[in-house]
Amino acid sequence: MKRRDFVKQLGVGAAAAGATLSGAPAVAAKKIRWKMVTTWPKNFPGLGTGAEFLAKRIGELSDGRIQVKVFGAKELVPEFEVFDAVSRGSAQMGHGAAYYWKGKSEAAQFFTAVPFGLTAQEMNAWLYHGGGMELWQEVYAPFGLIPNAAGNTGVQMAGWFNREIKSVADLEGLKMRIPGLGAEVLRRAGGTPVSLPGGEIFTSLQSGAIDATEFVGPYNDLAFGLYKAAKYYYYPGWHEPGSAMECFVNREAFEALPKDLQAIVTNATRVANQDMLAEFTARNNTALHTLVNEHHVQVKRLPDDVLAKLKALSDEVVGEIAAKDPLSKKVYDSFRSFREQAIAWHDISERAYLNARGG
Ligand code: CA
Repeated sequence: MKRRDFVKQLGVGAAAAGATLSGAPAVAAKKIRWKMVTTWPKNFPGLGTGAEFLAKRIGELSDGRIQVKVFGAKELVPEFEVFDAVSRGSAQMGHGAAYYWKGKSEAAQFFTAVPFGLTAQEMNAWLYHGGGMELWQEVYAPFGLIPNAAGNTGVQMAGWFNREIKSVADLEGLKMRIPGLGAEVLRRAGGTPVSLPGGEIFTSLQSGAIDATEFVGPYNDLAFGLYKAAKYYYYPGWHEPGSAMECFVNREAFEALPKDLQAIVTNATRVANQDMLAEFTARNNTALHTLVNEHHVQVKRLPDDVLAKLKALSDEVVGEIAAKDPLSKKVYDSFRSFREQAIAWHDISERAYLNARGG
């Protein structure tokens, strides 16, 4: 018997043991214990706590039949080995962000955020109702993984700067900690992107080793104390307009679950996906108030010519992903056409309303 079939039989047998034909309570069903490895430090605000939220929902919805234990970065595996660990079955679930796995597939980047890409609302629309999720499944299938969206930060901030950005010329030589595709865009705009682990950001900014850093948004940035190291807080987060988090599941482990537990796992990710965005929005609101009113942070908008320059370069950089391989092109084409339609609709809905509401 194949191992997978054996595991499946065990799962069904355990579930069936929970009830008898007479309806009398039977021997308690065997608990299924899963491990979730994450790319975040344990209980990191918003992201690590989002992973815990998801694990807790799965336990509650299944009445304890499936219990998920969450491991912070480095507790079981280092943060960037999470994908491989779940792929080979060392853990059943992984919580992270798809753009970390561009070494596996360039197309993965579209499922977190790309510069001047989709907002959180648009991202969920593309994934759930615009063909995005099917493409994401196709990208992860060769690794034996099933992807799920499991949270979103909403629009991030452009970052903390020790000098003012008044024109494109001010980007020249700007040493900024910025990851991913945004880094390549900044480089083409004349800046010097720097890659730094989270723990070194604050001291590097404070000592002047870097001129600027992006991080997340008011909620995380306030907790990180970045306002003590830089004077200007710029918006909008052109490089991460609504970063989607993910929870991928080992396919073999998922298929060994009875159908109702499969549905619980999948639907719990949808609950977690929505809850994280709601939490970030609420906490960013109050944190921004604190940053401005208690810490007197100077909040500034990037000038129009700077944003226009970054946008033109972003279109170039993101478009180049399509040339990497046929699947990346397929994902890029879907993403691009969805974005075009979203721009047209949101121009007369979200944007028009927000403008009408005013400040
Ligand atoms: Ca960020």
